[in-house]
Amino acid sequence: MRLSRYFLPVLKETPADAQIASHRLMLRAGMIRQASAGIYSWLPLGFRVLKKIERIVHEEQIRAGHIPMLMPTLQSADLWRESGRYDDYGEEMLRIKDRHGREMLYGPTNEELITDIVRAHVTSYRDLPLTLYHIQWKFRDEIRPRFGVMRGREFYMKDGYNFDLTREDALHAYNRHMVSYIRTYERMGLQAIPMRAASGPIGGDNTHEFLVLADTGESEVFYDAAITDLRLGNREVDYNDREQVAAICAEFTTPYARTDETHDPAVFEAEVPPERRRQSRGIEVGQIFYFGTKYSEPMGATVVNEKGERVHLHMGSHGIGVSRLAGAIIEAFHDERGILWPEEVAPFQVGLVNLRQGDAGTDAACEQLYAQLQAAGVEVLYDDTDERAGAKFATMDLIGLPWRLTVGPRGLKAGVVELTERRTGASEELKPQEAVARLT
Ligand code: ATP
Ligand code: MG
Ligand code: MG
Ligand code: MG
Repeated sequence: MRLSRYFLPVLKETPADAQIASHRLMLRAGMIRQASAGIYSWLPLGFRVLKKIERIVHEEQIRAGHIPMLMPTLQSADLWRESGRYDDYGEEMLRIKDRHGREMLYGPTNEELITDIVRAHVTSYRDLPLTLYHIQWKFRDEIRPRFGVMRGREFYMKDGYNFDLTREDALHAYNRHMVSYIRTYERMGLQAIPMRAASGPIGGDNTHEFLVLADTGESEVFYDAAITDLRLGNREVDYNDREQVAAICAEFTTPYARTDETHDPAVFEAEVPPERRRQSRGIEVGQIFYFGTKYSEPMGATVVNEKGERVHLHMGSHGIGVSRLAGAIIEAFHDERGILWPEEVAPFQVGLVNLRQGDAGTDAACEQLYAQLQAAGVEVLYDDTDERAGAKFATMDLIGLPWRLTVGPRGLKAGVVELTERRTGASEELKPQEAVARLT
């Protein structure tokens, strides 16, 4: 992409109303623009990041055996009356009437809608296990939308729902989600710690939240420092292997880690030696639930089992805050000059900076590098504008692409270009072909 043809409305000034780094940086880097309170447009750069995060979520869900689909944003109130949640959900639900006076709502979550689909089509134990998920916009009329996309009213969420014959099968689904979530966050460069949590309006007793440690997080958390040493890494996981999946979950849930809602000081002190006790703040980037027959009973979602008996489905639901993650990643990776994108979610891999736009030799060298990198599948943002060098560098630092390739007449005379890693600031002079090789 040529910057001269792109839409990157960076802000020079720090927006006054943005209280935390990620919100400030997303506005300054031209990633988002507020449409109304807690509702954002995703400008081109932000949209690229959102799609990268979404793709990782899809890949890891599909790897775990879960099936993608898409449900609408607007739902009928009738289904929510069946589960009893239409009245229970309260002010966070945006209620709408259509022209015929029918009551609708903008979905804050989808347990009812998916249960309605499954009860209509799934009749036998042979159709199970089944886990369906989608990534779709949600609306919750948060009392205090803030921190940009971290606590929006309209936000993008992956929500998945497992349907199983038995409690045991459903707990395997729960474990599968835990492992696939850990891998999902790790691929984004994040450590999100599964913590024992309270269930809220989704219901159920088995639930973990995934928290990214950050001073600006809204949750108070208590944990054993030992848990921060755990990594899933590139382990081969067979998601059908119940024992293996359960063992990984045990590994990640044995050290004490709880949110303030479930924190128990007596257990904390008994289990964790004083030098490993930590109290800090975290950002909730996901949550998983097992809630048994909470929805299948009131909504009549049943199958016939092997003995010919009609039984209620065991269910769970599982969410990842896709749009919140964009903010959480920036909270974890930024410095005083801007964002430091991890490779997997960076909007572009390389920023190509032409130091003397209009100089025939420099332009030609840039064009060639641009073409070669693109041909090799590298995503390049080519700053071909006639801004001065300092402004170009400031923009590249702000938007935080992992690599900057700087091309100027002086270097070219010596046969070199400069490759700079954003994260460390380390620069190296290389022949243009070496730079291409390094980036491909
Ligand atoms: P919170 O405690 O932050 O209000 P929640 O527990 O109500 O979140 P869940 O119902 O567990 O949210 O939804 C799954 C995920 O969706 C959350 O873990 C979070 O990452 C994301 N999410 C929830 N509410 C918002 C919001 N208002 N804006 C952005 N993301 C959100
Ligand atoms: Mg909430
Ligand atoms: Mg919560
Ligand atoms: Mg939650």
